[in-house]
Amino acid sequence: MNLTSNKINDLYNKIYNQYNCHLKQYNVKMPKLYLKGNYTLNSLVLIYLYSKVGQIVSKQELTDFLRTMGFEVNDVQQARHLAQQSGWYILSGTRGDYECKQLGIKSGEYMLKTIEKPYPSYKKLKRTDSLNANSWDELKKIYNYRCVTCGSKENEPNFLYPSSSTMLQKGHKDPSQPLTLENTIPQCQFCNRASRDYFVFDNKGRVEKISDPRFVLKSKKEVQLAMLKLLISNNYEEAKKIINNLYKEH
Ligand SMILES: [Zn+2]
Repeated sequence: MNLTSNKINDLYNKIYNQYNCHLKQYNVKMPKLYLKGNYTLNSLVLIYLYSKVGQIVSKQELTDFLRTMGFEVNDVQQARHLAQQSGWYILSGTRGDYECKQLGIKSGEYMLKTIEKPYPSYKKLKRTDSLNANSWDELKKIYNYRCVTCGSKENEPNFLYPSSSTMLQKGHKDPSQPLTLENTIPQCQFCNRASRDYFVFDNKGRVEKISDPRFVLKSKKEVQLAMLKLLISNNYEEAKKIINNLYKEH
């Protein structure tokens, strides 16, 4: 697909407007359209993916597009970088993002999923940047400088591991959302572990919801079956559709 310069400007402006509404607040980086009078590769790749937002685009298609724009490129890495380094919600089949399997994105293929949300793990890279020291101190004070999960006090022996001194860390309430002050709870270094990314917590650090469906796979078969029954009985029509579709595929 070719894009005229008018179309490119138009798409870039649309992206820029959405970026200001939805992404700037998460420190997502907007690529410049021009550098020294030429289009930048990053902006062209983003524009092309946006012209097919929600659709699968192959690396070859991106390469062909950049060539029609006069770039002698072979191995286009921009789509990958735009996600991991700049925070755009671009799924990569090669990277094997969690959603790729569901959406049928294979190795060497990409999809710009939306420009209303940042790339899901981008917040993790920005974990320490996203709060300033003052507000974090205030938050700790509200919680009496204690871990919301086990109650250990900062700089005192940890309740779980008494030979260690307690360090308070910024834990996500909802791991799928950025680490804003509202979404932060103080947790000690032992309670704030990767495994907690499976859950959504309330203000008191109690588990409220499951945030990653893969957690169900760690559960006993009986629990998995009970979960399946619960989902089916709650959404009977939806479940029937899914089962019918699976039946058609096989
Ligand atoms: Zn703790």
